[in-house]
Amino acid sequence: MAPGAGEASDGLRYVFGPVPSRRLGRSLGIDTVPSKTCNWNCVYCQLGRTHPLTNARKDFFPVERILAEVRARLAALRSDSIDWITFVASGEGTLHRGTGDLIREVKRLSDHPVAVITNGSLLHLAEVRAELAAADAVLPTLDTGDADLFRRLNRPHRCLTFEQHVAGIAAFARLRSRGRLWIEVMLVAGLNDSEPALRRLAAVLEHIGPDEIHLILPSRCPVEPWVRPPDTDGLRCAQAILGAKASLTPPPAMPAATVHAAPADPDLVAIVTRHPLRRADLASVFAGWPAARINALVADLLAAGRIQVVARFGEPFIVAAGLRYPKENAVIDNKIGA
Ligand code: SF4
Repeated sequence: MAPGAGEASDGLRYVFGPVPSRRLGRSLGIDTVPSKTCNWNCVYCQLGRTHPLTNARKDFFPVERILAEVRARLAALRSDSIDWITFVASGEGTLHRGTGDLIREVKRLSDHPVAVITNGSLLHLAEVRAELAAADAVLPTLDTGDADLFRRLNRPHRCLTFEQHVAGIAAFARLRSRGRLWIEVMLVAGLNDSEPALRRLAAVLEHIGPDEIHLILPSRCPVEPWVRPPDTDGLRCAQAILGAKASLTPPPAMPAATVHAAPADPDLVAIVTRHPLRRADLASVFAGWPAARINALVADLLAAGRIQVVARFGEPFIVAAGLRYPKENAVIDNKIGA
């Protein structure tokens, strides 16, 4: 689960950041698939609906071209400006057939630890488990403890089953050569925050035995407008049932602020292709710009069809134009104070 590909103004296509990450400090991201290439269609995805779902592994981009960018970016950055190098695709990164080669080569290029954020859907394949075993940390998703909820929440490709998903993560957990295994659980009110749903999930997690369980909440432009985080009681219930390995991961800092001091027009498009932004946060991202200038930039990009405004949680978010969101009826003022 993750940000999407988009060519930034510095010419980088596959490498972005370092950006502040919820769990990985300053993370240099590597994005290896075309925007929203995924085999799931999660109700909470911040990159719009998946269409069509893709479940075939491919060489989406040449490994050598991606590595050339990694090399260039590492050469341009101070080593102490990065905590982790993270494979975090704008869809499901393990669909890239070159994932294993990429992980091994990146580890040769740098001493920084390497993490892979994945939905974990291909861990039932021995080749994918072997590829990811080279990483220092793997963060697969497991949101539910039963097949029905899995289908309703993650809406996977028709070839993927819940049983296969759990078996894949469990097999990876048993690999002696693996790095850390941190499972991500996205909590969605009314779906997986009830006591019975959490008890079923806890039983599956107990069977897998991850090193940590990271609870996360939908906070940034979920694709389905009805998606909400659980209330305080739901959160308390989740923490209590999922046990001491589970902790709530705070929302990330704004992605752009530390990357682009004063982004110009193309940067906003590149940023929101990976990370939808609250309209209200643009004032911080474009620190020092008068509100009228930011409003004019947004109006220009809207008119050019390069971004769109999507209403979630009663407020406007800026997202890339190509991402698919269901149409909204809400009328939202997308301007900030003049
Ligand atoms: S796994 Fe889910 S959240 Fe991640 S990119 Fe695919 S649809 Fe989006």
